[in-house]
Amino acid sequence: MSDFNPFEVARKQIDECAEILKLDSSIHEVLKNPMRELHVSLPIRMDNGEVHVFKGFRIQYNDARGPAKGGIRFHPEETIDTVRALACWMTWKCALADIPLGGGKGGIICNPKEMSQAELERLSRAYIGEIYRFIGPRMDVPAPDVYTNPQIMAWMMDEYSKIVGGHQFGVITGKPLCVGGSRGRGDATARGGMYTIREAAKVCNIDLEKATIAVQGYGNAGYFAAKLAKTFFGSKIVAVSDSKGGIYSSKGIDPDAAMEHKSKTRSVVGLPGTESVSNEELLELEVDVLIPAALENVITEKNAKNIKAKIVAELANGPTTPEADVILNKNGIHLIPDFLCNAGGVIVSYFEMIQNSSMYYWEEKEVYERLDKKITAAYQSVLESSKKYNINMRQAAYVVAVERVVEAMKTRGWV
Ligand code: NAD
Repeated sequence: MSDFNPFEVARKQIDECAEILKLDSSIHEVLKNPMRELHVSLPIRMDNGEVHVFKGFRIQYNDARGPAKGGIRFHPEETIDTVRALACWMTWKCALADIPLGGGKGGIICNPKEMSQAELERLSRAYIGEIYRFIGPRMDVPAPDVYTNPQIMAWMMDEYSKIVGGHQFGVITGKPLCVGGSRGRGDATARGGMYTIREAAKVCNIDLEKATIAVQGYGNAGYFAAKLAKTFFGSKIVAVSDSKGGIYSSKGIDPDAAMEHKSKTRSVVGLPGTESVSNEELLELEVDVLIPAALENVITEKNAKNIKAKIVAELANGPTTPEADVILNKNGIHLIPDFLCNAGGVIVSYFEMIQNSSMYYWEEKEVYERLDKKITAAYQSVLESSKKYNINMRQAAYVVAVERVVEAMKTRGWV
């Protein structure tokens, strides 16, 4: 997985899109580079008394359409190019979802699995202490991502509020409900993904009630995907996995039992009544829908030809390499590209920003209905663009998003 540079992938995708849209070379150049990057060093006193210096980043990739928006990842293998790629994809995701926000992303190189809660809190607050001038409700609004959670968002919001004064709930989203979170944010990414799978199944003539599904990754995105696919559609979840490996059962896996097992043992592996599969094998299973919901670059030119799913719904960011894209497309697999499939999180984050600024909080039903409307419209615009230009779904998503960003840059007089 780590042989690939996700930012090179993101840039290749821009090149392809620039060619389809015949973009002017100066516009193309702007789109290929992040507008702003902040690199910080964070000295943290660990519980054993020693000081460890962590490296962190925050990137605002392109904010022509509004304040930057994007998660913060805590990961031991975080790299600046991963953060650049993710900030870039956020730009396209917000534009495609047609919400008035630009693209950003942040990260800290750390291993939260080896840190105490107190160390994580000190690290979260120190990060905000270094980046607070760079963020804000009208500038850049972070959110949770891999290995960060609502508690971490609450600490960060609290630290920002202490530094700038007042109750700054709108500085960050994905917060707990009691401090300005939105109802429906917890499972929004997976829920949005389900709405896109529902639309894709109509196009592919798949009866989701009889469908089999495999999910790679069992965190926020993956767990809720498995749970909602079962409750929404009655589909059978035949395989799920996490960083320690995967499990398979032709009879179907109960998503809650798998989560309970993971909470007790730190992995889904070993759930009674299931057999083990590797993460690689899971991707190649004979299923109707494959949902990569873990990390980048897992579907490559090496394994793409072995993928048997009819729909690949990319809940993770960047799970498929451009070379693999070509193979999936050639094999007639309907791909729901990442920044469409996983846009539910950022759409509900945007709803959270609206609720924070108005100080009026919506019922769950209202959040779900508005999410469905926004993401279904995005799916349809991608499908239409793919037919109009005779291009694949990822290229079509790029075309729709890039056209919107370029229109804003031109209208603002940037290019
Ligand atoms: P998470 O930290 O909650 O879960 C990550 C899961 O992936 C864990 O179960 C972990 O064990 C598993 N994992 C890690 N390495 C793996 C490997 N090599 N093979 C298989 N599984 C592995 O993270 P998340 O929030 O669920 O994010 C997952 C993906 O979804 C990421 O690509 C993220 O960028 C994307 N995403 C998440 C959200 C969101 O709102 N949570 C929104 C948009 C996109």
